[in-house]
Amino acid sequence: MLKLDVTTMMVVLAAVSFVQLIIFYIDSYRRTRTDVARWWAASVAFFSSASILYTIGQVENVSPIMSVGSGIMAIAAGCMWGGARRMRGRPAVIWPLIALGVGTTTVSWAGRSVGDTVPGQAAWLVAMGIGIGAAAVELRIRHSSQWRDVRSFAIMATIAAVYFLARAVGVLTLGPTNPVFLSVFGTGVTFLVAILLLVSATSTMTALNNAQRTAQLREQATLDGLTGLLNRVRFLEEAESLLRRSRDNGTVCSVVMADLDRFKAINDEFGHITGDAVLQAFGDACRLTVRTSDLVGRYGGEEFIMLLPSSSAPEAVRVADRINVVLAETGPLRGTGRMATASFGIADTSTGYTTLTDLIGRADRALYAAKDQGRNRTMIGDGQAA
Ligand code: GH3
Ligand code: MG
Ligand code: MG
Repeated sequence: MLKLDVTTMMVVLAAVSFVQLIIFYIDSYRRTRTDVARWWAASVAFFSSASILYTIGQVENVSPIMSVGSGIMAIAAGCMWGGARRMRGRPAVIWPLIALGVGTTTVSWAGRSVGDTVPGQAAWLVAMGIGIGAAAVELRIRHSSQWRDVRSFAIMATIAAVYFLARAVGVLTLGPTNPVFLSVFGTGVTFLVAILLLVSATSTMTALNNAQRTAQLREQATLDGLTGLLNRVRFLEEAESLLRRSRDNGTVCSVVMADLDRFKAINDEFGHITGDAVLQAFGDACRLTVRTSDLVGRYGGEEFIMLLPSSSAPEAVRVADRINVVLAETGPLRGTGRMATASFGIADTSTGYTTLTDLIGRADRALYAAKDQGRNRTMIGDGQAA
């Protein structure tokens, strides 16, 4: 028969949750300051303060303190659910947490005031089961792509939720002094489950929150600041893998290089701010014209690059022409009597296996040919007029 000393377990829970709070605060919250981290920091802080209150209430034998402690711990479980929701980008809802906390404390208080701890224990267990179970469900159902990362916590949370709910049934059916109940569901074992849950939750959330933040930062860092298009490095990286995929599928794809015509003159005539607005308008025109499966990047200064999967050069020509039309309709030079235009050079993979460097080189030579022939036009690789 497993007998874990309740007071010792409470002190351990208080100490562990306090250490977890500090670790999470430093390792995750302070570094990322995401909403997810805020909810998890709140959860661990509530866990920590609840277990300290519990310990004091138990040692000093003051029932109301234990009632408040159990309510706060129910809120801590609710915060896990809030964090899990934020992780999916859904809003966290506050009122269920208040309901869990106030409900648990009230039932516990009312029971203890007539000398009965059973209602309070049952309410606390149900509240914990609901909070942790909701977090587990939230992570399990919706996070299939991140399942590997949250797996350990989701499994632990499921076990803990089932344990807490089973203990609630146990305390109501067998009673709190039944020897079977005490060995399986003793308060010491319950606190052990809470400790294991807390440790696994905090390490998972630290890793997950940091990974999410790193991905966000990477996403921001690899976009062009002015146009919001992919920057050159990210474009080349994604283009390599798209090109590989289209080769594996045996489909043709095209690279389009674009360069704004006489752009220096636009800067000189209207100023750099208008020049920047033209670049943004060109970026928007590209984005509006291409399909979601196409890649668009800013290659440098006033040069842009696109990779269009499942498009042959003649199809890419239509895309380029459309971009010039959209630019003329929306650009900031509208009404000034001047028009911003671009020249395009295109190369596709229809001639057989080729590398990205080769495709870009051919598209670039075609672009130079388009410039040579008077600008505001599109040329297909190897000197072919479109
Ligand atoms: P061409 O038709 O031969 O391409 O002539 P161009 O004037 O466009 O070519 P050139 O390479 O001589 O000039 C490119 C200009 O683009 C020079 C540079 O000041 C401008 N430019 C590059 N990046 C930016 C930017 O981020 N903002 C603004 N406003 N101008 C930029
Ligand atoms: Mg240029
Ligand atoms: Mg230019």
